[in-house]
Amino acid sequence: MSASPDSSAAGARRGSDVLQRLREHPPALWYRGEQVRDVTSHPALRGGVATLASLYDLQWQQRDVMLYASPSSGKPVARAFLMARTSEELRSITRAMQVWEDHTHGMMGRVPDYISRAMTGYAAGAAYLDEYLRENDLCLTHTLIAPQANRAVSLAQQADPYLAARVKEETDAGIVIRGCRMLATLPICDEIMVFPSTLLRAVEEDAPYAFGFAIPNDTPGLRFLCRESLDYGRSHFDHPLGSRFEEMDAVVVFDDVFVPWERVFLYRDVTRCNQAYVRTGAIVHMTHQVVVKNIAKCEFILGLAHLLVNAIGAEVFQHIQEKLAELWVNLETMRAFLRTAEADAARDEWGIMRPAWSPLDAARNLFPRLYPRMVEIIQQIGASGLVAMPTEADLKGPLAEDIRKYYQAARVDALERIPLFRLAWDAALSGFATRQVLYERFFFGDPVRMAGALVSGHQAEIQQCAEKVRAFIKQAQE
Ligand SMILES: Cc1cc2nc3c(=O)[nH]c(=O)nc-3n(C[C@H](O)[C@H](O)[C@H](O)COP(=O)(O)OP(=O)(O)OC[C@H]3O[C@@H](n4cnc5c(N)ncnc54)[C@H](O)[C@@H]3O)c2cc1C
Repeated sequence: MSASPDSSAAGARRGSDVLQRLREHPPALWYRGEQVRDVTSHPALRGGVATLASLYDLQWQQRDVMLYASPSSGKPVARAFLMARTSEELRSITRAMQVWEDHTHGMMGRVPDYISRAMTGYAAGAAYLDEYLRENDLCLTHTLIAPQANRAVSLAQQADPYLAARVKEETDAGIVIRGCRMLATLPICDEIMVFPSTLLRAVEEDAPYAFGFAIPNDTPGLRFLCRESLDYGRSHFDHPLGSRFEEMDAVVVFDDVFVPWERVFLYRDVTRCNQAYVRTGAIVHMTHQVVVKNIAKCEFILGLAHLLVNAIGAEVFQHIQEKLAELWVNLETMRAFLRTAEADAARDEWGIMRPAWSPLDAARNLFPRLYPRMVEIIQQIGASGLVAMPTEADLKGPLAEDIRKYYQAARVDALERIPLFRLAWDAALSGFATRQVLYERFFFGDPVRMAGALVSGHQAEIQQCAEKVRAFIKQAQE
């Protein structure tokens, strides 16, 4: 596959194009010991794939918001690939990202925008990223970290130097990668971006682990080992979120995978690899997308909580009002971060309008603590209602009369209450819900190390506050 601009590329895709490409280039997924031949029909994956395809249809249904004319071909392409030069362009990207997030309610962390924004950030440095992805409207997964074997030592010091993916061989045509990376969410897509692994040591021993590249998901030697699916193959009624938004996570094995030079954008330069994320602005553009996701998720959980409270007449209790208030404050906090990031955006050294980092950094450090609490609030409001939940089959069975009577609620009848509480269960208690909590805790990195990076990254602002206190102390002594 050529990395040069592709004149046959059609620009923005529709759902049917996405499904067709996945059938023609099946990602190398393995599920419960077997290779998946067709992700579009596999019971563990097809629900998530169908939602992914629907997102691409949505971008045509809302083409004024989601598409723009390609600067190279003139064809409509996804706005998530736009390199904003003005504040208005930046806001137009937010609006486009909101469409997919509103559609998935933030429950599909990896709508394609997430990596599209990262790649657009990186694109300042490489033609492939800019041109090829945009014109072909590709959807990417990514993998950053090494297997969780021994976190106390570096990659090169693991029991086997090829545990973490590293360069095995370099040829005139490219590099050969052997080893493993975890984790890749949304492997049901076209290509994988292997991010430069961060925090490598500037020593020769770590150089073979320093690379960044992107390759198709059907590249020979590449294997995705999927976790068990959280889509249990049930109806939208029984499993409203899991049946729609199962995006899957996979460990990625590189069994001597050949990567041609035109697909490599960083190699052996440890310092550049460690800095790539921040210097290119990729981290800012990804976090921008993440905050749009957080807002959709806050809206969803707040709306859900309100419906639960209303159904069972619990609004009369003060602690319930306090919990609703907490959810509302979370939503407004995320909205304020987004707005500040947009309002204080400025052109970066590549001429791209970059959202302000401080509010985004605050958002990405705060949300991993907010989301588990939001789920806890749903559990506290729903209480036993979250397990007293008949299935669609029960409703059609011989006990239907009992169910209609005993599952009624103050303001809704059983037929309205049951889908509501099933949704609350899938948001707060099911396997899907638990994975969402783990996702929000960790997907952007270890919160402990992110906090450390925040403190060192915002030293100037912290010092300014310290100066004010110092001045106050001095004043009191005068
Ligand atoms: C659902 C889910 C989806 C994900 N999707 C992706 C994806 O698509 N792409 C991707 O690249 N990554 C993905 N990740 C991985 C994510 O980047 C990591 O979870 C995160 O960086 C933390 O790394 P880890 O999970 O290996 O935890 P570890 O690094 O193994 O940490 C385990 C524990 O040890 C502590 N610890 C380890 N090292 C240190 C240290 N040096 N200092 C202090 N404490 C330490 C941590 O705080 C933590 O409590 C995903 C994770 C999850 C849970």
